[in-house]
Amino acid sequence: MSAGRDFRTAELVLGAGARLAAESARFAGLGWMRGTSGNLSEVVSRDPLRLAVTASGLDKGELTAADVSVVGPSGETVPVEGVEPRRPSAEAGLHARVAALTGAGAVVHVHTVNAVVAGHHWPAGVPLRDIEMLKGIGRLAHDDEVVVPVIANSQDMAELGDRFEEAHDAAVPAVIVARHGLYAWGRDLTHARHVTECVEWLLAYAVAVR
Ligand SMILES: [Zn+2]
Repeated sequence: MSAGRDFRTAELVLGAGARLAAESARFAGLGWMRGTSGNLSEVVSRDPLRLAVTASGLDKGELTAADVSVVGPSGETVPVEGVEPRRPSAEAGLHARVAALTGAGAVVHVHTVNAVVAGHHWPAGVPLRDIEMLKGIGRLAHDDEVVVPVIANSQDMAELGDRFEEAHDAAVPAVIVARHGLYAWGRDLTHARHVTECVEWLLAYAVAVR
C-alpha cells in the first residue's frame, strides 16, 4: 500500500487491524507474546509514513480488527475517521523507524526467550553461518557470515531508534534488543512472519549448540 491519503479510510485501517489480530494470535499461540507483550505493525501509507500498529495493553491472543491505531514516523497517533482511538504500543516509534529505514512493509516485535538469551551470550551480535535455515532470511546456507545485531534496551524510543539505525545491517532483517526481545521485518505481514519464525529458529539453534 502506498498511495496518498488511503490510510485515512477506516476500511483500510480495519483491514490491517484484522490481519494484525490474526498474526498476533499466531505468535501468542507460539508463546512469543506472553502477558500483553509484543506488537505488530503494517505500513498503510509510505508518503506520508503511516503504520497500523496493535493497541497497547491487550492480550495479543484476543485482539480484534478494531484493536489497532495509526501512527506517524515518531510513533505519534494519527486520528482516522471511523476508527475508535486506541492507545498505540509505546514501541510504535521503533516500528516506524524500522519501516522508514529498511523499507519493510510490516514489522514484528516479540519477546522470545531465545532472543534474550542469545543477546546475553553475544552482546556484540549473534554470529550464524553454514545452516540451511539462513535461506529463510534471504542468506546462503553455506559460507555466508551473518551477524544478527544486538542493541541495548531503552524506554526512550528515539534513543532506541538511533541505536537501531547505527547497528542495523541492510542484509539482516532482524535486530535483538538486549534483555528485551526481537524485532524482525519483511515486505508484508506474511513475509515478516516467516522471517521472524526463521530468525527465532536460528537463535534457538545458536543458544542450544554454544
Ligand atoms: Zn517489547
